[in-house]
Amino acid sequence: MMLEKYSFGIGDRFGRQGKAQLAAIKKAKQQGINITPVWNKSNREHSIIGTTPQDTRKEADDAVSAAAFEDLYFVDADHIGLKNVDAFIKSSDFFTLDVADFIGHPAQESEIQAFIEKNKKLIGSLAIPGIDETFDIPEQQIWDIAAKCLLAIKEAGKIYRHIESAKGTGNFITEVSMDETDQPQTPVEMLFILAAIADEGIPARTIAPKFTGRFNKGVDYVGDVEKFAKEFEADVAVVDFAVNEFDLPRDLKLSIHSGSDKFSIYGPIAKTLKKFDAGLHLKTAGTTWLEELIGLAMAGGDGLSLAKEVYTVAISRIDELCGPYATVIDIDIATLPAPDIVDQWDSNAFASALRHDQSCQRYNLNLRQLLHVAYKVAAEMGPRYFDALEKYADIIAQNVTENIYERHIRPLFM
Ligand SMILES: [Zn+2]
Repeated sequence: MMLEKYSFGIGDRFGRQGKAQLAAIKKAKQQGINITPVWNKSNREHSIIGTTPQDTRKEADDAVSAAAFEDLYFVDADHIGLKNVDAFIKSSDFFTLDVADFIGHPAQESEIQAFIEKNKKLIGSLAIPGIDETFDIPEQQIWDIAAKCLLAIKEAGKIYRHIESAKGTGNFITEVSMDETDQPQTPVEMLFILAAIADEGIPARTIAPKFTGRFNKGVDYVGDVEKFAKEFEADVAVVDFAVNEFDLPRDLKLSIHSGSDKFSIYGPIAKTLKKFDAGLHLKTAGTTWLEELIGLAMAGGDGLSLAKEVYTVAISRIDELCGPYATVIDIDIATLPAPDIVDQWDSNAFASALRHDQSCQRYNLNLRQLLHVAYKVAAEMGPRYFDALEKYADIIAQNVTENIYERHIRPLFM
């Protein structure tokens, strides 16, 4: 089972836009760019709207057959651990092992000692092709990294073997993710994390480190773009180096859990991918649902009313909706327009406040973040919301496809 060099995690809150998402992937293929689509939905998302992993599988299969899509595609059990993986085993063939909670809890001293012994030849001066600086790695640094990360990777090994025993070797893709931690990992930490992954016998195809800067949901990157660019390039170089050094799968690549729409770092990412001829897995967090709202608003009439209603309810339940996302959103409540103001907006006013076009004066990143986490409101509307999606399917699909193709695929992979 192989991912293409480029793969794209397409989130879809309500499982209705698979075909429109695939249209963007197919459009890229016509331009000579092959991208593996991976449907991803986290446990958190499933529990908020009451869907199951089987629903995601069904959406993917249905969309693939409706779109006559002939290439490989996957369904990702996103951010799972030993305690919740079982519900995903049957329906998923891509597993994102989340071991962030285990980072910072030291492994046994004897295990750390053995790890250092095994990686002894990396002590001292180390040059990694593609990185200008030479690293000086004292034994103490390996000790510190192992103390911080080894237990987490051992946990990843346990989860991997648990899945392997149920699905069989080679029947699924494995990602190791550590993005939901407090501190970004340095390239040297990445190197030893990859060493530990190889030791555990995890055939990781993608690895998701935490990068420098803030990756808030649905809005652009907040942080030092140049610093990110340097770190990303070093990480790509480290992955290349580690593949040979530790005999990891040759197609191992970085995975960016973007939280969606990190447009200002797409340029540096694209440049580095070309420079190193490297692959990338990019996960987005489901701004497809926002394109549904934009489509409804653009449709006018009862579509626009429904979009406004979602906003009004979202404002009244802001604390509840933002709670599960507290660490990945920054909403300046004072700049949120009052519901009675929004009520007077026409289609264009609503769509342009929400659409992620930073050059547009009407764009409001606070409104966008609030609506991004407000999908529970639409879920509760149930048939009323889904009937509207049906009724305005064409205009919504147009927005979904254009968003993925123009704002993501083109700047990243073309
Ligand atoms: Zn993540």
